[in-house]
Formats: sequence, C-alpha cells, structure tokens
Amino acid sequence: MSTDVLIVGAGPVGLVMAAELARYGVKVRIVEKTAHGSNQPKALFLWSRTLELLDRAGCGAALVAAGHKVTAGSIIAGNKPMGRVDFSEVKSPHPYALTQPQAETEHLLEAHLASFNVKVEHGVELVSFTDSGTTVSTRLRHPGGAEETVESQWLIGCDGGNSKVRETLGIAFTDHELKSGWILADVHLSGLNFPPTELVSYWHENGFLGFFPRAEGLYRVIADLPLSEDQSPTPPSLQEIQHIVDTRGPGGITVSSPTAISAFHINERNVRKYQSGRVFLAGDAAHLHNPAGGQGMNMGIHDAVNLAWKLALVIRGLCGPDRLLASYNTERHGATNQVFANVGRLTAVSIMKGQLAQATRNAFGSVIFGLAPARRAIADTLTEVSMGYEHSPLNGSEDRSFPGPGPGERMPPRDGETPYGSGDTPRFALCADPSAEVNELLETYAHLLEPQLRPPFGRRCIWLVRPDGYVSIVALDPDTKVIATFLDSLEKGAVKVA
Ligand SMILES: Cc1cc2nc3c(=O)[nH]c(=O)nc-3n(C[C@H](O)[C@H](O)[C@H](O)COP(=O)(O)OP(=O)(O)OC[C@H]3O[C@@H](n4cnc5c(N)ncnc54)[C@H](O)[C@@H]3O)c2cc1C
Repeated sequence: MSTDVLIVGAGPVGLVMAAELARYGVKVRIVEKTAHGSNQPKALFLWSRTLELLDRAGCGAALVAAGHKVTAGSIIAGNKPMGRVDFSEVKSPHPYALTQPQAETEHLLEAHLASFNVKVEHGVELVSFTDSGTTVSTRLRHPGGAEETVESQWLIGCDGGNSKVRETLGIAFTDHELKSGWILADVHLSGLNFPPTELVSYWHENGFLGFFPRAEGLYRVIADLPLSEDQSPTPPSLQEIQHIVDTRGPGGITVSSPTAISAFHINERNVRKYQSGRVFLAGDAAHLHNPAGGQGMNMGIHDAVNLAWKLALVIRGLCGPDRLLASYNTERHGATNQVFANVGRLTAVSIMKGQLAQATRNAFGSVIFGLAPARRAIADTLTEVSMGYEHSPLNGSEDRSFPGPGPGERMPPRDGETPYGSGDTPRFALCADPSAEVNELLETYAHLLEPQLRPPFGRRCIWLVRPDGYVSIVALDPDTKVIATFLDSLEKGAVKVA
C-alpha cells in the first residue's frame, strides 16, 4: 500500500508530525510497535512556545484544560531565597509551564490525530527500508508476524532514542556526556512551604533538589547523585528519597505513595544530519536531552512542527524541495545545540560541588537574580519564547535594524488573531498596511500567502511570517521585491501535482 509519508513511532513527536501533515492534507500512515502507548514517567513540562505551536495545530486548548499551570520557579541556596523567576510575565498567550504526565499528553495528541481520520497502527514495527531516490520502500511487521511492504514518498523516523531508522541510515550520535546521575520520583508530598503553582529548587552543598508540582499535593522530586562514572544508577527506595529531601530541603517535608521512581545518567546526544535522501529523523531519534532540563519532548514537538509545513508544501507541489527541506536540518540541529548549551549551563551550576565554588556561585547568582532583565531573560529561555532561527537559510533578509521581530525571530501571537499556520494549508502571513504593491503580492502568490493582511508591528515595514510563526523577512514598505524574490526561490523546483 502506498502513502505520501510513513511515520515510524507514535510517541509525542510522531503523533504531532502525523497530525500536522494530515491537517495540511498530506496522506500519512503512522506505525507504533507497542500495543499501547508508554506508561513510563517521562516528560512532565510543556513550555509556553510549545503550547503556542500546538494552538496553531488546534490542540493547545485540550492540553491546557487537562494540565496543571506552573507560574513561577524559585531557587533557594542554603536556607536563603536566591531568586524567583516569574513565568506569568512571559509575553505569550500561555505565560506558564504546563505540567502533565507524558502518557496523558500522548493520549490527547492521539485523539487530536484521530480528528483528521488518522489512526495509529499499534503493534506494527518497522523492520527495514530502502531509499531508491524517488521513493522509500519499507518492510513492516504486523502483530502475528505477517509482513507488508509500504511505498512512500518520504519516511520519518520518530522512533525514539534507539531509532532503527537512524541505525539503518548509519547516522551516529555525537555525545556530550555530563558525568552525573539523577533520581526522579513522582510522589505525594506535604509540608512544602510554596504554592502548588510554583516549582522550587534547592541548591544544597550535597547537590540539587527540585520539587516540580503536577497537581495539588502531587510532585515530581528530582535530585542529582554524587559524581560517578556509573552509567546506570539504581533507582532509590522511598526512604532514600526521604533522606535526600530531609538533608537538602528546608525540613518538614514528607514524601509518600510514589507512583514512579527511576534513576538515570545524563548523556546529551545530537546527530549532524536530520535528513538523508527521502528519510528524516525527529525527536529523540535525532537528539537526546537531559531529562532534568525538561526540554526533550518540547524540542521534538518543535521538530515536527518545523518539518511538517515544509514537507506539506513540497508534497502539495507548491514549493521545491531543495531550499525548504534543507533548512530543517540547519534550523533544528542549531536549536538543539542551543538548548544543550542553555540547559548544560544551568545544570552545571545547579550541581556544582565544593565550598568555594558554591559560595562564588551563590554570590554571583544573587546578583543575577536581583536584576529584572536577567530574570526575564531566564524565563524567556526556559519557556522557549526567545528561541528562534537567527541563522536560518530561510531568512530572506538579514537587516535587523527595523523595529519589532527580525528575521528568524518568533512573531509573538497577538490577542484575537488566528495563530500563524493554522487551517488546512500552510501559508505565509503578511503583516503590512494595504498598498498597491502589497495587493499585487497577495494576488501573485495567493497559493502561498494568507488572503488577508495582518496589522504590521510598526509603521513603514512589512513582515513576512512563516507558517510556524517565525519571521522570514522584514522589508521597508513598499519594497515588496525582496519578498517576491524569496517566494520565487521557494517555488523553484516544485513538482506540480496532477
Ligand atoms: C525521566 C524523564 C523525564 C523527562 N522529562 C521531560 C520533560 O519534562 N519535558 C520534556 O520536554 N521532555 C522530557 N523528557 C524527554 C521526553 O520523554 C522525550 O524527549 C520524548 O519521549 C521523545 O518523544 P519521541 O516521540 O521522540 O520518542 P519516544 O517517546 O521514545 O517515542 C518513540 C516511539 O517509537 C516507537 N518505536 C520504536 N521503534 C519502532 C519501530 N521499529 N517500529 C515502530 N515503532 C517504533 C516506540 O515504541 C515509541 O513509542 C523526559 C524523559 C525522561 C526519561
């Protein structure tokens, strides 16, 4: 049986990828080797930018309704408050972090996918594939052992850290190992002197201790273990967790009734190539994050959003493959490395050992957290709203002297506006005042542009915004030539669909 795109793996990334492509009218199949989704205690946090991207997909509201809002994060060093980051000041329709067990997120994403009449084929495993250059031929094994060959235009490996797709392509992970072990426990918790809308981190001389609320009285507790080369630390008992909480916390906190306890070693990994021929990698198949940083699933969802609109434009014969699809690798590889750097810095600081180093860290930390702009920058980084594609090959202009968001930057969603890229076809948006030149653009590129203009961010400028809400071009009104040239370059090589 043939399809436009075959997606392997129905974790959060595969589910968003399938739903985004289906929403844009692309024929997809999605196979998942397990009979049911995972019940492992994995991702807890969905950050503001991810929720914005899921709003445009049409499923943000369902996730928000089911999750728990965390509006601030505090750091306590020793017994002294060091700083408090207020997510409610983040300029986003979602000024908070949403916590929710990954299994529930997957359940809601699968229901969203079903709204496009696409069902996950559970119990179906990718066995092998070959890319002929014009199609991909994939062997699938069904429950009971029957095998099937699927011909698809494109194959996307969303098949997790042990990706068979990545292995078959012969693409290796480049490692960045942080030699630290961590424990994680989902527990009932009492005695914490903070509201359940606030995450709290303690920087103790023995190490880090974090309390991440999942609901009133339900918390994820995370702590680092003493430095060791041990790649597979042993999950602790509840008593051992209580001991760490007593030692590193403020006292008076009781943990009980754990629903999950695990231990892990941090090993951040990224691949250099997110695409090989007609095959793509996304999510954990392409990059593995430090679970304590809470960014892995979010980054995978951003991969899916980034690739889906590009692939849909190519498959629908509206754009050529070269410029658009090559940008997926550049943009997402760069974004992953940026997150590694940010989270790596924060982790290294949190688990710093030695009296002198800790004293210096705490003194320096108090100064930084005392500065409102620094606190805002930290909140914007954590919630991913400051993330963008500054060096993207899809930035059609480099000029950053104009007011408002520049090329590669996120166009902040505005009250009452339809999210960029929503609907059933991926379209760029023009934020501009009406003029003869702008009207001509709308007519000439009606298949690539939203039919209605959106208000510009400042006078005398035109913004061209991508379907994922990042700016491509800022031009001086009425210079629409730079926009026309850019759109022509995207169309080059388009294979018209009959
Ligand atoms: C303890 C812990 C805490 C975490 N906390 C956070 C957090 O707070 N925030 C965050 O953003 N991230 C967090 N993460 C990371 C997050 O869980 C992962 O990044 C996320 O699961 C990646 O999603 P994925 O869809 O890429 O891969 P996966 O979730 O691994 O899904 C891959 C799917 O592919 C299927 N599959 C594999 N091989 C095949 C095959 N051959 N054929 C068919 N199907 C196949 C698998 O069965 C699986 O269902 C955490 C991780 C851990 C371990």
